Amino acid sequence: MKVASVLVPLPVQEAFDYAVPDDMDVTRGDQVDVPLGPRLIRGIVAEVFETTGSNRKLKSIERLSDDPRLPEGTLAFVEWAARWTLNPPGEMASRAIRGLRAPRPRPERRVRRVGMRQPQRITAPRTAVLEALKDRAMTPADLARAAEVSTGVVKGLVDEGVLEAFEVEAVAAFDPPLPDHAPSHLNPDQAASSHAMAEAAKAGGFAPFLLDGITGSGKTETYLEAAAELLKARPDAQILILLPEIALTQALIERITKRFGAAPAEWHSGVTPPRRRQVWEAVAAGRCNIVVGARSALFLPYRNLSLIVVDEEHDGSYKQEEGLVYHGRDLAVARARIENATVVLASATPSLETLWNAQQGRYRWLKLRTRHGVAVLPDISLVDLRQCPPDPQTWLSQPLREEIGANLERGEQSLLFLNRRGYAPVVLCRACGHRLTAPDTDSWLVEHRYTGRLVCHLTGFSMPKPKACPSCGAEDTLVSVGPGVERVEEEVRQLFPEARTAVFSSDTVPDGQAARELIQSMAEGEIDILVATQAAAKGHNFPHLTLVGVVDADLGLRGGDLRAAERTYQLLAQATGRAGRADKPGRALLQTWTPEHPVLEALAANDRDAFVEAEMAERDIAVMPPYGRLAALILSSENAMALEKTARDLAETIPNAERLEVYGPADAPLALVRGRRRKRMLVRADRDVNMQAFLRAWLSRVKVPASVRLTVDIDPYSFL
Ligand code: ADP
Repeated sequence: MKVASVLVPLPVQEAFDYAVPDDMDVTRGDQVDVPLGPRLIRGIVAEVFETTGSNRKLKSIERLSDDPRLPEGTLAFVEWAARWTLNPPGEMASRAIRGLRAPRPRPERRVRRVGMRQPQRITAPRTAVLEALKDRAMTPADLARAAEVSTGVVKGLVDEGVLEAFEVEAVAAFDPPLPDHAPSHLNPDQAASSHAMAEAAKAGGFAPFLLDGITGSGKTETYLEAAAELLKARPDAQILILLPEIALTQALIERITKRFGAAPAEWHSGVTPPRRRQVWEAVAAGRCNIVVGARSALFLPYRNLSLIVVDEEHDGSYKQEEGLVYHGRDLAVARARIENATVVLASATPSLETLWNAQQGRYRWLKLRTRHGVAVLPDISLVDLRQCPPDPQTWLSQPLREEIGANLERGEQSLLFLNRRGYAPVVLCRACGHRLTAPDTDSWLVEHRYTGRLVCHLTGFSMPKPKACPSCGAEDTLVSVGPGVERVEEEVRQLFPEARTAVFSSDTVPDGQAARELIQSMAEGEIDILVATQAAAKGHNFPHLTLVGVVDADLGLRGGDLRAAERTYQLLAQATGRAGRADKPGRALLQTWTPEHPVLEALAANDRDAFVEAEMAERDIAVMPPYGRLAALILSSENAMALEKTARDLAETIPNAERLEVYGPADAPLALVRGRRRKRMLVRADRDVNMQAFLRAWLSRVKVPASVRLTVDIDPYSFL
């Protein structure tokens, strides 16, 4: 009897076996519908094998789908990724076919001539329509536009039988990119780097690169030229460019379209499901060469993936924390290895993990040393808030105010950076000291003045600001503590009422369209002072920006998690790197209470190497990543008893292992989220320990009840 192991989207580690009907020819990678309880469910065949006389009564595969077979590279990738992250392989595999869940786009209506039949009555508009159409087929709207008539004229000709309407399946056409369309002239550093990447990609074989260059040094320019060189040699090559934020995609798509004379495919959660289906099918059929997308684009069914670029590779947004937990950058490297492809990690402030890999010689290290053109690095200075504190209830120090004022007079732009959404991060009661939290979650409510609501940034819970303190009942005692971007903007408006001021945060810029418009008006000089969260700190090009003020440079340093200093360094370096791109030198002022902190000293000296060296030494001593490995187990439940018991069971069954320690279980810093209590355990191991094998052995010993959710987080970035 023939049996197929089928990966189904369930939270289990195993594939399910199904009998293969005699008349069905299935192979690994095929998409099949299989019965699961009362339902039919879409699965992917992982393996087909023969058995003799199994005593189990296996259910049969119901149907072999005519959706395309998953290419071997994609399937091997999801299997590897599931083993590495300990995510259920079936759920990982179903990620790879998620694009197919959408309906096909509706068929499109076209019109064409019926033979040479002439209209009964000739009018000028009708003649225009027939001339515009010739012997082609067009949509009625396009035809009316081309003939400069109303659609009624077209309809009239259809009604008369001169034209006939018919429907065609909407297939997305992706014009092939033209490598010679608009090449740029690279400087010698850029050209050498681009060539190295292209050569590796053309040759095939796994080749990882770190493309390391300050903001504005032309990293994008360089990898696009590498892509062009690759496409010249291998027109069927597929190239994936990952970005950490959807807000960045539009600018890159426009750049690629200009460079190659054809738009790339776009893949992220903001793309409509029917469109995603078209992209999925085009990628699977090899009809699309360049994909620009978010981390989920790693799961597309490429046929010929030759080059992956992870732009802003240090960015924490590559780590997916909800649902399937994985790190997009790490999986990109894995995918390249499986596909025998080149992977380029690009950044001005690479992660310590990537720098370590480059130092060890595992990644080839390409450096772009200078900013393109005349742009120079901004002059960075620290404002010691102990020396010049802002007035009470204000956040901008005198030196920063003066610089903004001077910039305004010169007609130059300023960016004030504060990585905090909303108006005030905390609301507390003056009478009893109570801090307002959401009813079912342990995080403070953030005041938003634009909407007049208090919002939990973790869960999205929101409520109107109450009049009375929910704890002591006193009225009019709630005060807003600390600044968010909205509050800094309020201060700016009071100080510089004549300035054109705007706020850039995920609240004021809710979608890609709004982000594009704001970025464009900033780029075109229609804004004088932009107050922004990290959303604007990444990768945008503002040629008239000459001053960056960092309102609270200490913010990220207080968190105390493993990467607090690294993240702060990266964020501030990116934020200050915005200034002075074109022909005007830039300045950056960092307001801080701790100017002697090594992160801030390294920033002020523009000395990345000093920062990296100090931070690496600390990680080395503590045997933390990249010198060691971490994994977290997060338990959560609405049932406190079940949670306690599972945590105890886990603690009692830790396998013996050397060079590895387990910490916890302890209440998570966010001990209550959406009504679920949370506990955490942390595993630290030396680099040569097989963390995954340890975890698998451990977890196989514990029965986790259905009321408790257990999440494994390999290489955690959040410790909350
Ligand atoms: P990065 O990705 O390193 O921040 P970009 O590739 O965005 O840098 O380059 C910064 C700016 O300099 C862009 O406007 C880009 O078009 C321009 N630029 C960089 N290199 C070149 C080049 N060789 N020729 C023309 N323009 C370049």
